[in-house]
This record gives sequence, C-alpha cells and structure tokens, in this order.
Amino acid sequence: MIDLELTPEQRQLQATIREFGRRELAPTIPELDREQRSDPELFGKLGALGLPGICIPQRYGGAGLDWVALGLACEELEYVDASCRTALSVHAGLCLTGLYQWGTEAQRQRLLRPLAEGRQQGCFALTEPDAGSDVRALRTLAIRSGDGYRLRGQKVWISMGHSAELLMVFATVDPAQGIGGITAFAVERSLAGPGLRTQPITHKYGLRAGETAIVFLDDAVVPAANRIGEEGEGFKVAMSCLDSGRFCVASGAAGTIRACLDLSVAYARAREVQGRPIGRFELVQQMIGQMARDSDIARLLWLQAAWLKNNGRRSGRQSALAKWVNSDNARRSADDCLQVHGATGFSEECPAARYLRNSRATLIYEGTRELQTILAAEYALGYREDRPVRCPLPAWPDEGDPAPAAVPAATRTA
Ligand SMILES: Cc1cc2nc3c(=O)[nH]c(=O)nc-3n(C[C@H](O)[C@H](O)[C@H](O)COP(=O)(O)OP(=O)(O)OC[C@H]3O[C@@H](n4cnc5c(N)ncnc54)[C@H](O)[C@@H]3O)c2cc1C
Repeated sequence: MIDLELTPEQRQLQATIREFGRRELAPTIPELDREQRSDPELFGKLGALGLPGICIPQRYGGAGLDWVALGLACEELEYVDASCRTALSVHAGLCLTGLYQWGTEAQRQRLLRPLAEGRQQGCFALTEPDAGSDVRALRTLAIRSGDGYRLRGQKVWISMGHSAELLMVFATVDPAQGIGGITAFAVERSLAGPGLRTQPITHKYGLRAGETAIVFLDDAVVPAANRIGEEGEGFKVAMSCLDSGRFCVASGAAGTIRACLDLSVAYARAREVQGRPIGRFELVQQMIGQMARDSDIARLLWLQAAWLKNNGRRSGRQSALAKWVNSDNARRSADDCLQVHGATGFSEECPAARYLRNSRATLIYEGTRELQTILAAEYALGYREDRPVRCPLPAWPDEGDPAPAAVPAATRTA
C-alpha cells in the first residue's frame, strides 16, 4: 500500500530544507543568476545539512534515509532554484547511487564514503560532442596501460564537472563492440594527472547559477581499481545512474511548479485590473488551476517512483514518466507564471523568467523530452521492460547497519 502521508520525520526534513532554502539560498540566487556564476560554498552548505549521502547507507558514510527523503530534498531545493537541485541530484542521484549499486565493497569504502560524507563532490560524465541521446555513438577511448587505463576523448555539458573531485566517466575499451565496449570509471582528479582538464561553460540560456563544464581527457590516468563494474558493463551502469537522476529531476520539477503556483496566487490576489483582483478573471484562473493540478500530479508521480524504489523494485518506467510529465509541466507553469505577472513577469525583479529558463534544461538533460516520450510508448507497446534491480537502495536493515536516522544527523542539529 502506498502511504502518501509524510511521517513526522519527513515533515521535519522538509521544513528544515525549506527554511535553509529561504534563509541561505533565496537571497543570493538572483544575483548569482544575473552574474552567471555558481556559489562555490553551495556543496559545503548541502554537506552541513547532511544531504550529499542522503540515501546512501550509514555504513558507507551516508544518512541512510530513503527515496522519499531524497525527493523532498530535490523538491525543496528546486523551489528556490533548479541549479541548487541540480548540484544535489548530480552528486546524490547520478553519481553516488551508481557507485553504490555497481561498486565493490572496497570501492564503496574508498570512493563512495568521502562523497557520501560530503568531503568530496561527484559528477557524471556521459555526454560527448557527438554522443548525447545516442549513447552508442560514444567515442571516448579507454586504453589499457600498465595497471590501469588512460582515457582519451572529450565530455561536454557536465554539471559540476569543473569542481567535482570524482568524475564518473564513461569510455569504450573497444569501439567495434558498440554498447558492449562501454565501461564506467571513477576518475579521481587528484590521480588523473595533467591529462584531465575541465573548463566551465558560460553564457547558458538557463541554470546560470549552476556549473556546467567541458571535460578534456588527454590520456587521463585511472587505476584499474577505479573501474566500476566489468569492462563492457558501462551502458548498464549509466542507465541505472540515469534512472536515479531522472527521479531527482522529476521531484525537483515539483518544486518549480509549486514555486510558480505560490508566486502566481500571491500576485493574482494582489494585482487589481478594472477594480478587481486578476485572480477573479477566468482566464487567469485557468492558468492557476493548471498549476494546482500539475503540482499534485508532480508530487504523486515522484512518490510513486519513490515507493517502488524503497521497496527494492525497478522504477525505470515510472521515473522516466515522472521526469517527462513533471519537467514539461514545470516549463508550462513557469511560462504561465510569467504571463500571470504581465510586464512585471518580464523583468528581473520577478523570478518567473528564471524559472522558465531553468525549466528548459530539464527537458534536455537525462534524456530529452522526445526520448522520454519514446520510452513511455515502448513500455506501453511491450517493446521494453524493466529488469530486476541490481542492488536496491536503501539497503537497510542490513548486517551491522544501525537503524536509519529519521533525518540526516547534521540536519537534526541545524
Ligand atoms: C544544463 C545541462 C546540464 C547537463 N548535464 C549533464 C551531465 O551532468 N552529464 C552528462 O553526461 N550530460 C549532461 N548534459 C547533456 C545532456 O544529457 C544532453 O544534452 C542530452 O542527452 C541530449 O543530447 P544532445 O544535446 O547531444 O542532443 P541530441 O541527442 O543531438 O538531440 C537533438 C534533438 O534530437 C532529438 N532526438 C534525438 N534522438 C531522437 C530520436 N531517436 N527520436 C526523436 N528525437 C530524437 C532530441 O530529443 C533533441 O530534440 C547536460 C545538458 C544540459 C543542457
């Protein structure tokens, strides 16, 4: 039975992150967005709340919470700005869940723990200049060399790629094998040598307060002990990472929709035209009614995926569907929010335009809107089905693991 009621602990977590967003993030975001720079302290601030390893088991340095907790964190961060949510979801969703699900015990202790404890930041580097939607076209080479590999190629549009210490990089050990050659590597910046360089991408349409980078790999060094999974298993690793990442995008989009709804409601009550609040006009009500509808749909869709994940069940279809529907509705809500505000929405004083620019990114990354449409159709047509989960998260109760904390320890004292 899916229980839609948040527990007192989940409400406490939600309230803490909401207050953190209001107090710590909201005051600086407009300026960061205008000046197109990210907050170098952001990851540290998320770490102080115990969020980086939010749903990684405690025995690997995480908080041991569940997918509902991660979804709530994404929703509350994106309520302020999608770039804040992206910073968390790239780390906690795309990178850490992949390391946890595919890493060996030794890799979980050595590579995952510093990330889960918030001492290091992680990112996920799959996209290349000529390989976006079509992962099969990936050309970055992994050349065996001594007791390890040298990586040669280029990755583009990598969120947090300039500041991350650990980059989950996908490369092929044999291009002739197509998908069967793709292999995942945990590239540690400190070990990679001069062959790893990163460069921030500037002048973006949206997510201007977020960091996005080009990653140059010119014989970057990676030890064999940092290969995640077997040679040729990288495509499966990438798909499980994307499944978690899509869940984060979907729950984050619920935050954008709610932010648009709250902003529009406040403005429609206050702004008078022809002696009446504009909230009394049916066509304005239509926009606000849709936002209210989409806000509930968004929460229900990501909770459905969270419930499946919490129960160790595959949620590939539901996560992709939630990502598709919620990101599309976030974009429309932002557009309508701007419209409700008239010319005020067109100015920088109002966050609606920022919400709109940010929401466009969620229709592109982690599988474009078109790919999500295709996925939904293929599941419906029976051309695609979910395989069992390799290693479900959260994985407690488990031998030697304490009962999960209700909220991250750091959050409890915040
Ligand atoms: C802000 C931002 C952050 C990002 N962060 C990351 C990151 O952290 N890590 C990472 O690896 N990547 C990241 N990306 C890259 C992102 O995942 C890719 O841009 C995305 O997968 C699409 O690839 P592409 O841009 O090459 O578009 P293309 O694949 O070239 O697609 C172009 C157009 O063709 C359509 N199309 C493609 N194939 C089909 C098809 N079969 N049927 C119908 N239509 C199709 C697409 O939907 C799209 O409209 C990020 C992108 C952005 C914008």
